[in-house]
Amino acid sequence: MPSFSHITAALPAGTAAWVSSTANCRYLSGFAADNCLCLLSARGAYYLTDKRYLEAAQKAVAALEVRDIEKLTELLNELPEKRFAVEAEHTTLAALARRQEKYPRLEFAARDGLDKLLTDLRAVKDAREVELIRRAQIIAEQALDQILPNIRPGQTEKEIAQALDFVMLTLGADALSFETIAVSGAHGSLPHGVPSRRKLRSGDLLTLDFGAVIGGYHSDMTRTFAIGKPGDEQRRVCELVLAAQEAGIAAVCAGAQCNAVDAAVRAVFDAAGMGQYFTHSTGHGVGLEIHEAPTLSKNSNGTLLPGMVVTVEPGLYLPGRFGVRIEDMVQVAAPGEGSGCVNLTGYPKEPVVL
Ligand code: ZN
Ligand code: ZN
Repeated sequence: MPSFSHITAALPAGTAAWVSSTANCRYLSGFAADNCLCLLSARGAYYLTDKRYLEAAQKAVAALEVRDIEKLTELLNELPEKRFAVEAEHTTLAALARRQEKYPRLEFAARDGLDKLLTDLRAVKDAREVELIRRAQIIAEQALDQILPNIRPGQTEKEIAQALDFVMLTLGADALSFETIAVSGAHGSLPHGVPSRRKLRSGDLLTLDFGAVIGGYHSDMTRTFAIGKPGDEQRRVCELVLAAQEAGIAAVCAGAQCNAVDAAVRAVFDAAGMGQYFTHSTGHGVGLEIHEAPTLSKNSNGTLLPGMVVTVEPGLYLPGRFGVRIEDMVQVAAPGEGSGCVNLTGYPKEPVVL
C-alpha cells in the first residue's frame, strides 16, 4: 500500500490530491470500482464511490475512510484545502469544467505533477503485487501448455487466440490482459497484428502474445513457434531474437538507465545487420495496467529501481515474410541480490516446433 503522506507532502502546501482514474483509485485503495474518487487531504484519506459499490468498499477498504460519493460536497466543506491537484492525464476538459462550475470556490490544479507521483509509485511493485503478477503469469503459461498440443495446420489465427483466451479464463484468470495476438506466416511481420482467418500452414512461424489478469494485475508474454520444421533463415532469426532478448535481460539491474536496456537489445540486431527490422521499443512496465511506467526505449531517460516489473520483448519483422518476438516479464532486483533481475516468466524460450 502506498504512503498517502508521501503523495501529499510532494504537492504544494495547502494542496490535497483528487484522484479519480480507476487504476489509480484501485492502487490507493486496493478496491476495484468504475465510479470512484480518492481524496488525500491533510485531514485524512477518503474513498468515495456510489451505492453500487459502497457496501463492498466499506468491507474491503481499510486505509481510507469510505464515503458515499453523493455526499462529496459535504466532505469538501469539511476539508481544510481549497486547492486540489488533479490527474491531468486522466481528466477531460469537460469533467474539469463541470467540476469548476460546481465548486467555484475551489482551485483544481493540473500541473502539480500528481500523475507522475502516482506513476512513479506504481512502477515499483511490492511483494503482494508481484505475487499477483506471478499468479497471472502462471495461468498464462499453463494455458499455453494446454493449447500447444492441439495446434496444427489448417487452424485459423482466430481459433488459436480464442482457445488460449478460453483456457486462461477457465484456469481462473479474472480477465485477459489485452486482446490476444496470434499472427502467423507473412501476417507475423505485423508486430501487433489482429488474429485473422488466415489458416496455419506447415512452414509458418506463429507468434502468440497474451496475458491474464489476477486481482487487477496483468501478465504479458510472447513466444514464437514453428509449424513444422523451420527453414534456415527462420531459425537464424529466432536465434538472433533470443540472443537480443537475453542481452536485454542481462542489462536489467537497479540503477541502469532504461534506454541502456533498449541499446543492449539493439546492439545485437545491429551487429547482425538486422537493426532496421526491430521496429518498436524494447519493453514496458506491467501492473494494474498492461502498459505502464517505465518504458524501455531509445528515448526513455528513466532509471530502473528495485521492484520495478518490466517486459523485455525484442522482435524482428521481415515485411511480407515472417516475424519473431520473444517477451518475458522481469523484476528488477535489489542491489546485491545476485543477478540484476528475477525472471517472472518460467516458460522455455528455445524455438519449439509444433
Ligand atoms: Zn506482450
Ligand atoms: Zn508487452
